[in-house]
Amino acid sequence: MPAKLLDGKAMSAAIRTEIAAETEKLKQQGITPGLAVILVGNDPASEIYVRNKQNGCEEVGFYSRTIRLDESVSQETLEAEIDRLNRDDRIHGILVQLPLPGHLDEQAALARILPEKDVDGFHLINAGHMLTGTEGVTACTPKGAMYMIRSTGENLAGKEAVVIGRSNIVGKPMALLLLRENCTVTICHSRTVNLKEHTRRADILVSAVGKAGFVTEDMVKPGAIVIDVGINRVDGKVRGDVDFDRVKETAGWITPVPGGVGKMTIAMLLANTLEAARRKAVHD
Ligand code: NAD
Repeated sequence: MPAKLLDGKAMSAAIRTEIAAETEKLKQQGITPGLAVILVGNDPASEIYVRNKQNGCEEVGFYSRTIRLDESVSQETLEAEIDRLNRDDRIHGILVQLPLPGHLDEQAALARILPEKDVDGFHLINAGHMLTGTEGVTACTPKGAMYMIRSTGENLAGKEAVVIGRSNIVGKPMALLLLRENCTVTICHSRTVNLKEHTRRADILVSAVGKAGFVTEDMVKPGAIVIDVGINRVDGKVRGDVDFDRVKETAGWITPVPGGVGKMTIAMLLANTLEAARRKAVHD
């Protein structure tokens, strides 16, 4: 029985339509949500991500600005740019495109962004909010993945959820969001022994590893919700972590790559920026 498709393209289009309508209302109150992206160097993958974010902003009627800094920029100059954006009233969200060149301190740069403008949700204050389940900015990729999981309409409480990957930007926050939904959560990683034993128990399986075709059919419980976060370039094509063609025969629900979680990440970035603009409007 083939799995039902969790279509990130359609889901994110519907979210963007809603965001565009909300943006229009805010504009009538004199507020245009604004997103600034800082891009250091000319990494081709980062260029594509930044362009997609810009296009997303334009589509929903946001003000957007991309600040391009030279590959050799100093930490001081980068942080001065962040400070400038922190003070700029037209900017509600600031995003530093990662990874940064090796000589720069990523954590220090992220910490420099005002937590209320940290629409990526990577600031330690927002990471703390994630941990404690209090109000803050939720990281875009896990938030988008969670939206897709909820869209199945399944009762999530008590479900076995397995996350493969323990990064600060995907694996860990994903596990926290699933815990918030009362799932029983296991985090697997590169040192996990007998990975398959864990994944085969999963009613919800999220893969955030970064290896094409890593999740095979024999690792998946029949009927499971399978969320593929991976973005891997193979022979010029984008592929996920999941062996989609085979796993779809076993899973109950599955996300494609491309057209899955990646689309939702951008939709959630726009949602976080809209939310930041609304919060600012209330506080001003
Ligand atoms: P990362 O490299 O920081 O983390 C990878 C994780 O995989 C690590 O925690 C590691 O322990 C685990 N891992 C590696 N080999 C393993 C193995 N053999 N068995 C079990 N676990 C193993 O990567 P990340 O930043 O978390 O990103 C993961 C993937 O998600 C990448 O492909 C990335 O491009 C993609 N990604 C997609 C989006 C999106 O919008 N869809 C956003 C962010 C990242």
